[in-house]
Amino acid sequence: MTRITCYGGVAEIGGNKILVEDRDARIWLDMGQSFGFGSEYFVEFLQHRARFGLRDYFALDLMPKLAGLYSQDWLDGAGFPYESPRFSSVFVSHIHFDHTNHLRYLDRRIPVHLGEGTKIMLSSWEETGRMSLEEHDYRAFRTGQTISTDGVDVRPIHVDHSAPAAYGFLLHTSEGAIAYTGDLRQHGPRADMTRDFIEAAAAEKPAILITEGTRVAPKDTRLNLTEAEVKTKSIEAARRAKGKIVIATFYPRDVDRIRTFLEVAKAVGRKYVLQSKTAHLLLSLANDPRIQVPDILRDPDILVYDRQMDRQASWETSLFAQVGERVVTSEYVRTHQEELLIQLDFWVLQELIDIQPAPGSPFIHSKSEPIEEDDEVELVLRNWIRFFRLRRHQFHASGHMSEREISEMIRKIRPRAVIPVHTEHPDRFTRFASRVLSPERDVPIDVI
Ligand SMILES: [Zn+2]
Repeated sequence: MTRITCYGGVAEIGGNKILVEDRDARIWLDMGQSFGFGSEYFVEFLQHRARFGLRDYFALDLMPKLAGLYSQDWLDGAGFPYESPRFSSVFVSHIHFDHTNHLRYLDRRIPVHLGEGTKIMLSSWEETGRMSLEEHDYRAFRTGQTISTDGVDVRPIHVDHSAPAAYGFLLHTSEGAIAYTGDLRQHGPRADMTRDFIEAAAAEKPAILITEGTRVAPKDTRLNLTEAEVKTKSIEAARRAKGKIVIATFYPRDVDRIRTFLEVAKAVGRKYVLQSKTAHLLLSLANDPRIQVPDILRDPDILVYDRQMDRQASWETSLFAQVGERVVTSEYVRTHQEELLIQLDFWVLQELIDIQPAPGSPFIHSKSEPIEEDDEVELVLRNWIRFFRLRRHQFHASGHMSEREISEMIRKIRPRAVIPVHTEHPDRFTRFASRVLSPERDVPIDVI
Protein backbone atom coordinates (compact mmCIF):
# COMPACT_ATOMS: atom_id res chain seq x y z
CA MET A 1 0.00 0.00 0.00
CA THR A 2 1.17 3.48 -0.85
CA ARG A 3 0.24 6.45 1.31
CA ILE A 4 0.87 10.16 1.19
CA THR A 5 0.62 12.30 4.33
CA CYS A 6 0.98 16.07 4.35
CA TYR A 7 2.36 17.38 7.65
CA GLY A 8 2.66 20.89 6.26
CA GLY A 9 1.83 22.90 3.15
CA VAL A 10 -1.88 22.15 3.74
CA ALA A 11 -4.14 25.06 2.74
CA GLU A 12 -1.19 27.37 3.28
CA ILE A 13 1.59 28.80 1.13
CA GLY A 14 4.84 27.18 2.25
CA GLY A 15 5.80 24.72 4.96
CA ASN A 16 5.89 21.67 2.69
CA LYS A 17 6.52 18.46 4.63
CA ILE A 18 5.14 15.50 2.73
CA LEU A 19 5.66 11.85 3.64
CA VAL A 20 5.39 9.15 0.96
CA GLU A 21 5.21 5.57 2.27
CA ASP A 22 5.51 2.56 0.00
CA ARG A 23 6.34 -0.90 1.38
CA ASP A 24 9.65 -0.40 3.26
CA ALA A 25 10.24 3.11 2.02
CA ARG A 26 9.31 6.20 4.03
CA ILE A 27 10.44 9.21 2.06
CA TRP A 28 10.04 12.88 2.91
CA LEU A 29 9.50 15.45 0.21
CA ASP A 30 10.83 18.67 1.77
CA MET A 31 11.10 19.50 5.46
CA GLY A 32 9.91 23.09 5.53
CA GLN A 33 8.67 25.52 8.09
CA SER A 34 5.39 27.35 7.57
CA PHE A 35 5.45 31.09 7.24
CA GLY A 36 4.25 32.40 10.57
CA PHE A 37 5.14 29.07 12.25
CA GLY A 38 3.99 29.24 15.88
CA SER A 39 2.80 32.84 15.64
CA GLU A 40 -0.56 31.89 17.21
CA TYR A 41 1.25 31.20 20.50
CA PHE A 42 4.55 33.02 20.36
CA VAL A 43 5.30 36.70 19.91
CA GLU A 44 8.24 38.98 20.69
CA PHE A 45 9.79 37.69 23.95
CA LEU A 46 7.24 34.94 24.42
CA GLN A 47 9.05 32.15 22.61
CA HIS A 48 9.33 28.36 22.74
CA ARG A 49 11.72 27.06 25.40
CA ALA A 50 14.60 25.63 23.37
CA ARG A 51 16.11 24.24 26.58
CA PHE A 52 13.34 21.62 26.54
CA GLY A 53 13.92 20.74 22.90
CA LEU A 54 10.69 20.19 21.02
CA ARG A 55 8.48 20.02 24.15
CA ASP A 56 6.54 23.22 23.46
CA TYR A 57 6.10 22.54 19.75
CA PHE A 58 4.80 19.03 20.47
CA ALA A 59 2.45 20.16 23.24
CA LEU A 60 0.90 22.91 21.12
CA ASP A 61 0.56 20.55 18.16
CA LEU A 62 2.90 22.61 16.02
CA MET A 63 5.03 19.62 15.06
CA PRO A 64 4.07 15.97 14.57
CA LYS A 65 5.20 13.48 17.22
CA LEU A 66 6.79 10.88 14.96
CA ALA A 67 9.06 8.15 16.28
CA GLY A 68 12.47 7.81 14.66
CA LEU A 69 12.51 11.24 13.03
CA TYR A 70 14.11 13.74 15.38
CA SER A 71 17.61 13.98 16.78
CA GLN A 72 18.30 13.03 20.38
CA ASP A 73 19.25 16.62 21.33
CA TRP A 74 15.81 17.88 20.41
CA LEU A 75 14.01 15.05 22.22
CA ASP A 76 15.95 15.29 25.51
CA GLY A 77 13.63 17.28 27.70
CA ALA A 78 10.70 16.97 25.33
CA GLY A 79 9.35 13.87 27.10
CA PHE A 80 9.41 11.87 23.90
CA PRO A 81 11.71 8.84 23.67
CA TYR A 82 14.50 8.81 21.11
CA GLU A 83 14.47 6.00 18.58
CA SER A 84 16.85 5.12 15.75
CA PRO A 85 15.78 6.49 12.37
CA ARG A 86 12.60 5.03 10.94
CA PHE A 87 12.67 7.06 7.74
CA SER A 88 14.49 6.34 4.49
CA SER A 89 15.50 9.81 3.39
CA VAL A 90 14.52 13.41 2.78
CA PHE A 91 14.43 14.93 -0.70
CA VAL A 92 14.79 18.70 -0.74
CA SER A 93 13.26 20.49 -3.73
CA HIS A 94 15.09 23.81 -3.21
CA ILE A 95 16.74 25.98 -0.59
CA HIS A 96 13.87 28.26 0.50
CA PHE A 97 13.24 27.97 4.23
CA ASP A 98 9.59 27.01 3.80
CA HIS A 99 11.01 23.80 2.27
CA THR A 100 14.11 23.24 4.44
CA ASN A 101 14.01 24.88 7.83
CA HIS A 102 12.85 21.90 9.90
CA LEU A 103 15.81 19.83 8.74
CA ARG A 104 17.52 21.26 11.81
CA TYR A 105 15.45 19.00 14.10
CA LEU A 106 16.11 15.77 12.24
CA ASP A 107 18.19 12.79 13.19
CA ARG A 108 21.48 13.41 11.41
CA ARG A 109 21.63 9.81 10.26
CA ILE A 110 18.67 10.24 7.89
CA PRO A 111 20.15 10.93 4.43
CA VAL A 112 19.21 14.29 2.92
CA HIS A 113 19.24 14.43 -0.88
CA LEU A 114 19.56 17.84 -2.50
CA GLY A 115 20.85 19.51 -5.64
CA GLU A 116 24.57 20.22 -5.90
CA GLY A 117 23.84 23.97 -6.09
CA THR A 118 21.66 23.86 -2.96
CA LYS A 119 24.46 22.21 -1.03
CA ILE A 120 26.91 24.93 -2.11
CA MET A 121 24.47 27.67 -1.09
CA LEU A 122 23.90 26.09 2.32
CA SER A 123 27.62 26.07 3.04
CA SER A 124 27.95 29.70 1.92
CA TRP A 125 25.15 30.68 4.31
CA GLU A 126 26.67 28.75 7.12
CA GLU A 127 30.01 30.47 6.56
CA THR A 128 28.50 33.97 6.38
CA GLY A 129 26.40 33.30 9.48
CA ARG A 130 23.03 33.55 7.77
CA MET A 131 21.81 30.28 9.17
CA SER A 132 22.77 26.77 10.03
CA LEU A 133 20.77 23.60 9.47
CA GLU A 134 23.18 21.33 11.33
CA GLU A 135 25.36 18.72 9.77
CA HIS A 136 23.48 16.05 7.88
CA ASP A 137 24.29 13.12 5.68
CA TYR A 138 23.94 15.34 2.60
CA ARG A 139 23.93 13.62 -0.77
CA ALA A 140 24.01 15.83 -3.84
CA PHE A 141 22.19 14.88 -7.02
CA ARG A 142 21.95 16.17 -10.58
CA THR A 143 18.86 16.39 -12.75
CA GLY A 144 17.76 13.11 -14.32
CA GLN A 145 19.71 10.84 -11.97
CA THR A 146 17.89 7.97 -10.31
CA ILE A 147 18.30 7.54 -6.57
CA SER A 148 17.05 4.27 -5.09
CA THR A 149 15.89 4.51 -1.52
CA ASP A 150 14.42 1.43 0.22
CA GLY A 151 12.92 0.09 -3.01
CA VAL A 152 11.56 3.33 -4.42
CA ASP A 153 13.37 5.04 -7.30
CA VAL A 154 13.36 8.81 -7.09
CA ARG A 155 14.28 10.97 -10.07
CA PRO A 156 14.91 14.70 -9.58
CA ILE A 157 14.13 16.90 -12.62
CA HIS A 158 15.21 20.53 -12.68
CA VAL A 159 12.59 23.30 -12.68
CA ASP A 160 12.79 27.08 -12.89
CA HIS A 161 12.09 28.92 -9.64
CA SER A 162 13.30 32.05 -7.85
CA ALA A 163 16.15 30.04 -6.32
CA PRO A 164 18.78 28.21 -8.38
CA ALA A 165 19.07 24.41 -8.16
CA ALA A 166 15.31 23.86 -7.79
CA TYR A 167 13.82 20.46 -8.60
CA GLY A 168 10.62 18.50 -8.92
CA PHE A 169 10.64 14.75 -8.22
CA LEU A 170 9.27 11.61 -9.84
CA LEU A 171 8.85 8.64 -7.50
CA HIS A 172 8.26 5.11 -8.73
CA THR A 173 6.05 3.36 -6.19
CA SER A 174 4.23 0.04 -6.28
CA GLU A 175 0.99 1.92 -7.06
CA GLY A 176 2.51 3.85 -9.96
CA ALA A 177 4.39 7.10 -10.32
CA ILE A 178 4.02 10.08 -8.00
CA ALA A 179 5.10 13.45 -9.35
CA TYR A 180 5.91 16.36 -7.05
CA THR A 181 6.45 19.85 -8.44
CA GLY A 182 8.28 21.59 -5.59
CA ASP A 183 7.94 25.30 -6.45
CA LEU A 184 8.07 26.25 -10.10
CA ARG A 185 7.41 28.96 -12.67
CA GLN A 186 7.28 29.31 -16.40
CA HIS A 187 8.04 32.97 -17.05
CA GLY A 188 11.64 32.98 -15.83
CA PRO A 189 14.86 32.78 -17.82
CA ARG A 190 14.92 28.96 -17.58
CA ALA A 191 11.35 28.10 -18.53
CA ASP A 192 12.88 25.24 -20.55
CA MET A 193 13.74 23.44 -17.30
CA THR A 194 10.13 23.58 -16.10
CA ARG A 195 9.06 22.22 -19.49
CA ASP A 196 11.53 19.34 -19.02
CA PHE A 197 9.86 18.50 -15.72
CA ILE A 198 6.35 18.62 -17.19
CA GLU A 199 7.38 16.38 -20.10
CA ALA A 200 9.14 13.87 -17.85
CA ALA A 201 6.15 13.78 -15.49
CA ALA A 202 3.67 13.35 -18.36
CA ALA A 203 5.73 10.43 -19.72
CA GLU A 204 5.27 8.61 -16.41
CA LYS A 205 1.44 8.80 -16.58
CA PRO A 206 1.47 9.42 -12.84
CA ALA A 207 -1.10 8.13 -10.40
CA ILE A 208 -0.69 11.30 -8.34
CA LEU A 209 0.55 14.79 -9.01
CA ILE A 210 1.39 16.72 -5.85
CA THR A 211 1.49 20.30 -7.04
CA GLU A 212 2.09 23.75 -5.63
CA GLY A 213 -0.59 26.39 -6.19
CA THR A 214 0.78 29.60 -4.69
CA ARG A 215 -0.98 31.79 -7.26
CA VAL A 216 -4.10 29.66 -7.59
CA ALA A 217 -6.54 32.13 -6.10
CA PRO A 218 -9.79 33.90 -6.93
CA LYS A 219 -7.80 37.07 -7.54
CA ASP A 220 -4.11 37.33 -8.38
CA THR A 221 -3.99 41.05 -7.67
CA ARG A 222 -0.30 41.51 -7.09
CA LEU A 223 1.62 42.86 -10.04
CA ASN A 224 3.65 40.13 -11.71
CA LEU A 225 6.17 40.71 -14.45
CA THR A 226 8.46 38.35 -16.32
CA GLU A 227 12.17 38.48 -15.48
CA ALA A 228 12.77 40.24 -18.83
CA GLU A 229 10.19 42.90 -17.91
CA VAL A 230 11.85 43.48 -14.55
CA LYS A 231 15.00 44.22 -16.53
CA THR A 232 13.46 46.63 -19.08
CA LYS A 233 11.45 48.53 -16.50
CA SER A 234 14.47 48.87 -14.21
CA ILE A 235 16.58 50.13 -17.13
CA GLU A 236 13.93 52.79 -17.83
CA ALA A 237 13.90 53.88 -14.19
CA ALA A 238 17.71 53.98 -14.06
CA ARG A 239 17.86 56.06 -17.27
CA ARG A 240 15.63 58.69 -15.66
CA ALA A 241 17.90 58.88 -12.61
CA LYS A 242 20.59 61.21 -13.93
CA GLY A 243 22.83 62.43 -11.12
CA LYS A 244 21.20 60.09 -8.62
CA ILE A 245 21.95 56.66 -7.23
CA VAL A 246 19.84 53.63 -8.19
CA ILE A 247 18.91 51.40 -5.24
CA ALA A 248 17.52 47.90 -5.68
CA THR A 249 16.27 45.46 -3.10
CA PHE A 250 15.61 41.79 -3.86
CA TYR A 251 15.84 38.33 -2.28
CA PRO A 252 19.56 37.81 -1.73
CA ARG A 253 19.61 34.21 -2.99
CA ASP A 254 17.66 34.84 -6.17
CA VAL A 255 20.56 34.43 -8.56
CA ASP A 256 18.43 35.33 -11.59
CA ARG A 257 17.53 38.65 -10.03
CA ILE A 258 21.14 39.32 -8.99
CA ARG A 259 22.09 38.81 -12.64
CA THR A 260 19.17 40.91 -13.94
CA PHE A 261 20.37 43.93 -11.99
CA LEU A 262 23.95 43.44 -13.21
CA GLU A 263 22.54 43.59 -16.74
CA VAL A 264 20.57 46.72 -15.82
CA ALA A 265 23.72 48.37 -14.45
CA LYS A 266 25.69 47.51 -17.58
CA ALA A 267 22.91 48.74 -19.87
CA VAL A 268 22.97 52.19 -18.30
CA GLY A 269 26.75 52.36 -17.81
CA ARG A 270 26.75 52.07 -14.03
CA LYS A 271 28.76 49.90 -11.68
CA TYR A 272 26.91 47.35 -9.57
CA VAL A 273 27.56 47.42 -5.82
CA LEU A 274 26.76 44.12 -4.10
CA GLN A 275 26.50 43.36 -0.40
CA SER A 276 29.33 41.13 0.79
CA LYS A 277 27.09 38.14 1.64
CA THR A 278 25.67 38.18 -1.88
CA ALA A 279 29.19 38.40 -3.29
CA HIS A 280 30.21 35.41 -1.16
CA LEU A 281 27.22 33.40 -2.43
CA LEU A 282 28.17 34.11 -6.05
CA LEU A 283 31.78 33.24 -5.40
CA SER A 284 30.71 29.89 -3.91
CA LEU A 285 28.27 29.13 -6.72
CA ALA A 286 31.01 29.72 -9.28
CA ASN A 287 32.16 26.23 -8.24
CA ASP A 288 29.03 24.72 -9.77
CA PRO A 289 29.65 24.61 -13.53
CA ARG A 290 25.92 24.19 -14.26
CA ILE A 291 24.82 27.45 -12.69
CA GLN A 292 25.74 30.61 -14.55
CA VAL A 293 26.62 33.35 -12.09
CA PRO A 294 28.20 36.78 -12.47
CA ASP A 295 31.98 36.64 -12.09
CA ILE A 296 32.78 38.45 -8.86
CA LEU A 297 36.52 38.07 -9.31
CA ARG A 298 36.82 39.32 -12.87
CA ASP A 299 33.86 41.51 -13.81
CA PRO A 300 35.10 45.13 -13.58
CA ASP A 301 31.49 46.38 -13.29
CA ILE A 302 30.93 44.63 -9.94
CA LEU A 303 31.93 46.36 -6.70
CA VAL A 304 31.54 44.88 -3.22
CA TYR A 305 30.25 46.95 -0.33
CA ASP A 306 32.16 47.06 2.95
CA ARG A 307 29.85 47.94 5.86
CA GLN A 308 32.89 48.52 8.05
CA MET A 309 31.94 46.14 10.81
CA ASP A 310 33.73 46.34 14.18
CA ARG A 311 35.17 42.93 13.72
CA GLN A 312 35.49 41.56 10.22
CA ALA A 313 34.61 37.88 9.87
CA SER A 314 37.29 35.72 8.28
CA TRP A 315 35.15 34.91 5.23
CA GLU A 316 34.75 38.64 4.62
CA THR A 317 38.45 39.37 4.98
CA SER A 318 39.24 36.67 2.48
CA LEU A 319 36.50 37.88 0.09
CA PHE A 320 37.75 41.47 0.23
CA ALA A 321 41.32 40.32 -0.37
CA GLN A 322 40.20 38.50 -3.52
CA VAL A 323 38.11 41.39 -4.83
CA GLY A 324 40.91 43.89 -4.11
CA GLU A 325 40.36 47.45 -5.30
CA ARG A 326 36.73 46.86 -6.12
CA VAL A 327 35.75 46.90 -2.42
CA VAL A 328 34.00 50.20 -1.63
CA THR A 329 32.67 51.92 1.48
CA SER A 330 29.72 54.26 2.04
CA GLU A 331 32.06 57.21 1.50
CA TYR A 332 32.79 56.08 -2.06
CA VAL A 333 29.13 55.35 -2.74
CA ARG A 334 28.05 58.76 -1.44
CA THR A 335 30.47 60.60 -3.71
CA HIS A 336 29.86 58.49 -6.86
CA GLN A 337 26.07 58.18 -6.74
CA GLU A 338 25.40 58.87 -10.41
CA GLU A 339 27.74 56.02 -11.42
CA LEU A 340 26.23 53.32 -9.24
CA LEU A 341 23.41 50.82 -8.82
CA ILE A 342 23.51 49.41 -5.30
CA GLN A 343 21.89 46.34 -3.79
CA LEU A 344 20.42 47.27 -0.40
CA ASP A 345 18.61 44.70 1.71
CA PHE A 346 15.93 45.80 4.12
CA TRP A 347 18.12 44.71 7.05
CA VAL A 348 20.89 47.16 6.17
CA LEU A 349 18.77 50.23 5.42
CA GLN A 350 20.84 52.18 7.98
CA GLU A 351 23.51 52.46 5.28
CA LEU A 352 21.28 55.13 3.69
CA ILE A 353 22.36 57.42 6.53
CA ASP A 354 25.96 57.36 5.28
CA ILE A 355 25.21 57.04 1.58
CA GLN A 356 22.93 60.12 1.65
CA PRO A 357 21.11 59.33 -1.58
CA ALA A 358 20.11 62.34 -3.66
CA PRO A 359 16.38 63.10 -3.22
CA GLY A 360 14.31 61.43 -5.90
CA SER A 361 16.74 58.51 -6.32
CA PRO A 362 14.85 55.42 -7.50
CA PHE A 363 14.29 52.65 -4.94
CA ILE A 364 13.41 49.52 -6.90
CA HIS A 365 11.51 47.06 -4.73
CA SER A 366 12.05 43.80 -6.59
CA LYS A 367 10.29 41.46 -4.18
CA SER A 368 6.68 40.45 -3.77
CA GLU A 369 4.41 43.07 -2.29
CA PRO A 370 3.34 42.42 1.29
CA ILE A 371 0.07 40.53 1.65
CA GLU A 372 -1.05 42.42 4.76
CA GLU A 373 -1.63 46.17 4.63
CA ASP A 374 -0.20 46.65 8.13
CA ASP A 375 2.87 44.47 7.58
CA GLU A 376 5.48 45.80 10.06
CA VAL A 377 8.41 45.49 7.70
CA GLU A 378 6.45 47.32 5.02
CA LEU A 379 5.55 50.19 7.34
CA VAL A 380 9.17 50.62 8.42
CA LEU A 381 10.35 50.45 4.82
CA ARG A 382 7.88 53.18 3.84
CA ASN A 383 9.24 55.46 6.54
CA TRP A 384 12.83 55.09 5.32
CA ILE A 385 11.76 55.75 1.73
CA ARG A 386 9.79 58.82 2.79
CA PHE A 387 12.57 60.15 5.03
CA PHE A 388 15.15 60.02 2.25
CA ARG A 389 12.62 61.14 -0.37
CA LEU A 390 13.28 58.15 -2.63
CA ARG A 391 11.04 57.18 -5.54
CA ARG A 392 9.65 53.72 -5.11
CA HIS A 393 9.13 51.32 -8.01
CA GLN A 394 7.60 47.85 -7.75
CA PHE A 395 9.15 45.48 -10.35
CA HIS A 396 8.98 41.81 -9.50
CA ALA A 397 8.70 38.45 -11.25
CA SER A 398 7.13 35.78 -9.08
CA GLY A 399 8.74 32.40 -8.45
CA HIS A 400 5.45 30.66 -9.15
CA MET A 401 3.20 29.69 -12.02
CA SER A 402 -0.04 31.55 -12.57
CA GLU A 403 -3.35 29.73 -12.12
CA ARG A 404 -3.67 29.35 -15.89
CA GLU A 405 -0.18 27.82 -16.14
CA ILE A 406 -0.95 25.39 -13.30
CA SER A 407 -4.11 24.27 -15.07
CA GLU A 408 -2.22 23.79 -18.35
CA MET A 409 0.46 21.78 -16.56
CA ILE A 410 -2.16 19.49 -15.04
CA ARG A 411 -3.77 19.04 -18.46
CA LYS A 412 -0.41 18.05 -19.97
CA ILE A 413 0.64 15.68 -17.18
CA ARG A 414 -2.82 14.06 -16.93
CA PRO A 415 -2.40 12.46 -13.47
CA ARG A 416 -5.12 10.18 -12.13
CA ALA A 417 -5.47 12.51 -9.15
CA VAL A 418 -4.06 15.81 -7.93
CA ILE A 419 -3.01 16.68 -4.37
CA PRO A 420 -2.77 20.48 -4.05
CA VAL A 421 -0.21 21.78 -1.53
CA HIS A 422 1.49 25.14 -0.94
CA THR A 423 -1.77 26.96 -1.76
CA GLU A 424 -4.44 28.76 0.21
CA HIS A 425 -7.10 27.57 -2.21
CA PRO A 426 -6.94 23.77 -2.68
CA ASP A 427 -10.70 23.83 -3.39
CA ARG A 428 -10.13 25.73 -6.66
CA PHE A 429 -8.24 22.79 -8.19
CA THR A 430 -11.54 21.07 -8.97
CA ARG A 431 -11.83 23.62 -11.79
CA PHE A 432 -8.98 22.06 -13.71
CA ALA A 433 -8.50 18.52 -12.38
CA SER A 434 -11.07 15.77 -12.57
CA ARG A 435 -10.00 14.16 -9.31
CA VAL A 436 -8.67 16.32 -6.47
CA LEU A 437 -7.59 14.82 -3.17
CA SER A 438 -7.59 17.79 -0.83
CA PRO A 439 -5.10 17.01 1.93
CA GLU A 440 -5.82 17.35 5.62
CA ARG A 441 -2.88 17.93 7.92
CA ASP A 442 -1.42 14.67 9.37
CA VAL A 443 -4.09 12.50 7.68
CA PRO A 444 -2.80 9.82 5.26
CA ILE A 445 -4.18 9.62 1.73
CA ASP A 446 -4.16 6.14 0.16
CA VAL A 447 -2.89 5.98 -3.40
CA ILE A 448 -5.26 3.78 -5.39
ZN1 LIG B 1 7.88 27.55 -1.26
